[in-house]
Amino acid sequence: MKNNKPGISYTIAAKDLAAHLFHVTLTVDNPAPEGQIFALPAWIPGSYMIREFSRNIIRINASAGGKPVELTKLDKHSWRALPAKGRLTVEYEVYAWDLSVRAAHLDQSHGFFNGTSVFLRVPGQEDSPHVVDIQKPDDEAARNWRVATALPELKARRYGFGTYIAKNYDELIDSPVEMGDFALATFKAHGVPHDVVVTGRVPNLDMPRLCADLKQICEAQIAFFEPRSKKAPMDRYVFMTMVVGDGYGGLEHRASTALICSRADLPTTAARDKERSEGYIKFLGLCSHEYFHTWNVKRIKPAVFAPYDLQVENYTPLLWLFEGFTSYYDDLFLVRSGMIDEKGYYKLLGKGVGGVLRGAGRSKQSVADSSFDAWGKYYRQDENAANAIVSYYAKGSLIGLGLDLTIRAKTEGKRSLDDVMRALWQRYGRDFYNGRPRGVTPAEVDALLDEIAGTKLKPFVEKYIRGTEDVPLQKLLAPFGVEYKDERKSSKPSLDANITRDGADSKVTVVHEGGAAHRAGISAGDVLVAIDSLRAGNVDGLLSRYKVGDTVKVHAFRRDELMTFSVKLQGERIPGITLTPQPRQKGELRRPSAV
Ligand code: ZN
Repeated sequence: MKNNKPGISYTIAAKDLAAHLFHVTLTVDNPAPEGQIFALPAWIPGSYMIREFSRNIIRINASAGGKPVELTKLDKHSWRALPAKGRLTVEYEVYAWDLSVRAAHLDQSHGFFNGTSVFLRVPGQEDSPHVVDIQKPDDEAARNWRVATALPELKARRYGFGTYIAKNYDELIDSPVEMGDFALATFKAHGVPHDVVVTGRVPNLDMPRLCADLKQICEAQIAFFEPRSKKAPMDRYVFMTMVVGDGYGGLEHRASTALICSRADLPTTAARDKERSEGYIKFLGLCSHEYFHTWNVKRIKPAVFAPYDLQVENYTPLLWLFEGFTSYYDDLFLVRSGMIDEKGYYKLLGKGVGGVLRGAGRSKQSVADSSFDAWGKYYRQDENAANAIVSYYAKGSLIGLGLDLTIRAKTEGKRSLDDVMRALWQRYGRDFYNGRPRGVTPAEVDALLDEIAGTKLKPFVEKYIRGTEDVPLQKLLAPFGVEYKDERKSSKPSLDANITRDGADSKVTVVHEGGAAHRAGISAGDVLVAIDSLRAGNVDGLLSRYKVGDTVKVHAFRRDELMTFSVKLQGERIPGITLTPQPRQKGELRRPSAV
């Protein structure tokens, strides 16, 4: 017998704000007769690292018809309930004290959760509707709290506590929830309502400006993918932003994004500058990035993500496309939507190029390998990362630029990377949630690039994507009238190490391969105390009294043992890439190709 009611329902209550505990009740109407299994995801899509969210589950028990049902633990994140008659209920508590966009956080000021942290999956019933009753905390501190989420309401007013419904488990865990006394504003982008939710104290937040700017970016991206219909892929969208003193990060979802930003980066009504500050541009760039993911990775996906296996690593060699191209387009949409001018855009681009050229790891790992190994390497970086790996974000965005220039050159400006994105969208993305959940394979990506470029791009792919060569941007930019210069300060004496102030001394955080510090034997973690017998508080200041080729004596502590190094100073090796469009070519690169 089938009933029409959803078979899976949860209630979630912020039970104890001070103890950071959510109380969750899961009811399964028709549990598996052989004993129902429950599992919590080991990772959250978009953040490619095993996080074992189940470690935050405290106390779990099951019952049916008012009687306890035994739960057996199967592995670190799964349980099996003994066969029971009728409806099965599982109750558990989740410790929520991770202030990031990836997990859950709860205190007297707000609550936030991703479904991957709080909702046990019911294997075998993932495709049924999942209903969630989000309960108002019984706490005076939560008197004015509201709810923000992209989940559709079932029995709740918009922004109210009550029941929400997801089509399936995948939508449930792709719809984070923010609750609190947040600032809220709504704008429409090509007719679709977009909420801007800001949690945290921000004196004189200039919400109208934020909405006006985001509207430009969102409309530009919607029109990019659907130039004719200008139809957004979702019915509504939520930007949920947690404001902290110093922070930066975001995670994409199909109809929302969770962001963390620094208070100083948000615009204020107190200083209505015409110019957008560098911090604000950085925040808009983050919003632009996560919003672009609405298409690129939330709908256009690698085949191995369709569907995700939430219990183990899902390996793909394509993150250079899903993260790298998204990074290429995030800044591009800032200039296309008028948030920055051409000069500002080339400044950001030059910085990005320099950042990639800084790391020796780029000659050891390709972006395809970096993508595949994200789980163990990119997401688990140590002090040697710059020498060992390459970022599929940063170099991936240069691959995007390189391909864009190559396609524009080969087709005499008739086509560009824009056409690649639109073709991916039409063939794989548009119907992903409309009954055609098909991902794209690496071979299909190769074929599509050739098709749009009208020529074989295999050499490009083999050298720069599957190989470790630098994308020859100087050569590729020249026909577009963009001058590429490396203005590194090679006369500035340097240890070629990243160094941070540590009280009155300095701590080495990264030693760059082949640099002065490396050759002298200095290691990451060493605490520099003196350079030529002067306290090493301000290393740059001290070194500025020397010239390249001079030798200095460095004293440092390693495991509390004083060590002495003789360092031959070398010229600074940080690339200083400047990109300058020549006047007659202005606008060429940022202009979308014909649609
Ligand atoms: Zn991203």
